[in-house]
Amino acid sequence: FKVPAPKNEPVLNYAPGSKERTLLQKALAEARAQTLDIPMYIGAEEVRTEKKKSLHPPHDRQHVLAYFHEGDKSHVEQAINAALGAKELWANLDWEYRASIFLKAAELLAGPYRYKINAATMLGQSKNAYQAEIDSACELIDFLRYNVHFMSEIYRDQPDSGPGIWNRMEYRPLEGFTFALTPFNFTAIAGNLPTSMAMMGNTVVWKPANTQIYAANVIMQVLKEAGLPDGVINLVYVSGPDAGEVIFNHKDFAGLHFTGSTGVFQNMWKTIGNNIHKYKSYPRIVGETGGKDFIMVHKSADAKQVATAIARGAFEYQGQKCSAASRVYVPSNLWDDVKKYLLEDLKSMKMGPTEDFGNFINAVIDEKAFTTITDYIEKARQNPLNEIIAGGQYDKSKGYFIEPTVIESKDPSSLTMCEEIFGPVLTVYVYHSENFEQTLELVDSTSPYALTGSIMAKDRYAIEMATRKLTHAAGNFYINDKPTGAVVGQQPFGGARGSGTNDKAGAKVNLMRWVSMRTIKETF
Ligand code: GLU
Repeated sequence: FKVPAPKNEPVLNYAPGSKERTLLQKALAEARAQTLDIPMYIGAEEVRTEKKKSLHPPHDRQHVLAYFHEGDKSHVEQAINAALGAKELWANLDWEYRASIFLKAAELLAGPYRYKINAATMLGQSKNAYQAEIDSACELIDFLRYNVHFMSEIYRDQPDSGPGIWNRMEYRPLEGFTFALTPFNFTAIAGNLPTSMAMMGNTVVWKPANTQIYAANVIMQVLKEAGLPDGVINLVYVSGPDAGEVIFNHKDFAGLHFTGSTGVFQNMWKTIGNNIHKYKSYPRIVGETGGKDFIMVHKSADAKQVATAIARGAFEYQGQKCSAASRVYVPSNLWDDVKKYLLEDLKSMKMGPTEDFGNFINAVIDEKAFTTITDYIEKARQNPLNEIIAGGQYDKSKGYFIEPTVIESKDPSSLTMCEEIFGPVLTVYVYHSENFEQTLELVDSTSPYALTGSIMAKDRYAIEMATRKLTHAAGNFYINDKPTGAVVGQQPFGGARGSGTNDKAGAKVNLMRWVSMRTIKETF
């Protein structure tokens, strides 16, 4: 069998007066009207503990959306046992059976669950309607459909045989259980990391960021309704150290699928390294981590197009995408125009709660993020080589709101030019228009990351030079576009250097990490 290549899920339009807007507003009102009690899902059990913690919309700190039940090490052990217990049945099912479950989940998300999961993402993670739609609806649906298609291609790929010999390849799941650790910023990633491993026959312990539990709970409901057997994906809410201590000491730990911070990833890798003698097999480690993503502008670029790319690339979802533009290099001949258009764009970006569809900017995820981001703004303010040319104000009285902030820096190695901030803060360095080549070197050497980046230019030679010189500076490289918004099936996503293992999300190469192949030769 083969699962045909899907088409990307169309993005719904939430225009004023549209049916879609009314349905989404209804889902938002319903979600707001109730206070959910969210259990962990371990094997066939919904697990509730004494330790209940509240979840709030980041843009409305007083409102309680839900309580979730926090677990401890014993729950991680239970989840591992449930995963190991479900393994044999799951791994031995025909892959078509597994495929149907994930295709069904995609249909549920595209239909009956679409507004519910978008509302959950808008409330739980403070994404506006459009950002929620391209994430928790379209991208998650695309991940499921494309991965199933890639899975079917993987299984069909068989070695050559000769007269009297039949060679075959078995794509077995990893031996043991796998671990998915997901970040707050994309509901699609939360759905993709555990399901891509499960699809290939693995069973999973899944720990989402606490700030993502509200949407993770909907994903779990969808998977259950689609027919996912108990124990295949086990959803736990425990502290990082509790999870790490149990999982990374377990002999059957077989794989880690992670998106999150570079520091956490490196620490986990070290722990796994230290424990390597304890495991039955070498665990697979896949991680997508930090970024300090750039937009490099050439003097031939169109100033208006550049300003739009900057405004969208830096500030959609409050800059909380790994792919968000956070350092921009503009040639002196274009800066006056780019600045004028950029400031105009920023004026049109209203800030406020997600339930008001006119707001482009919403809140940052939590108190910790608010403090980190505003510290960077204050440090930037103190540097005499910097000027804050837009934004710079913030207020957490109702929610964690930070204005989109643009810093013009005369120092290309200033703090905010080099370090990942993960918020609505952008630093611009204006270079002499004739120093394009030297500035490309600066782009390449300024940060340890290599996730996304853009070159904006009309001149074909400049595009070519940037593409060559920045070979390793970005895993996703965009020509005349913003560096965010990779579409599954079109721009497989991931970066190298400090940004991760570059096992592109939503691609065959990623699924291949979750199988352990057996070559069989039979002679007649
Ligand atoms: N894939 C997303 C994009 O292209 C970013 C994912 C992330 O933030 O981890 O914008």
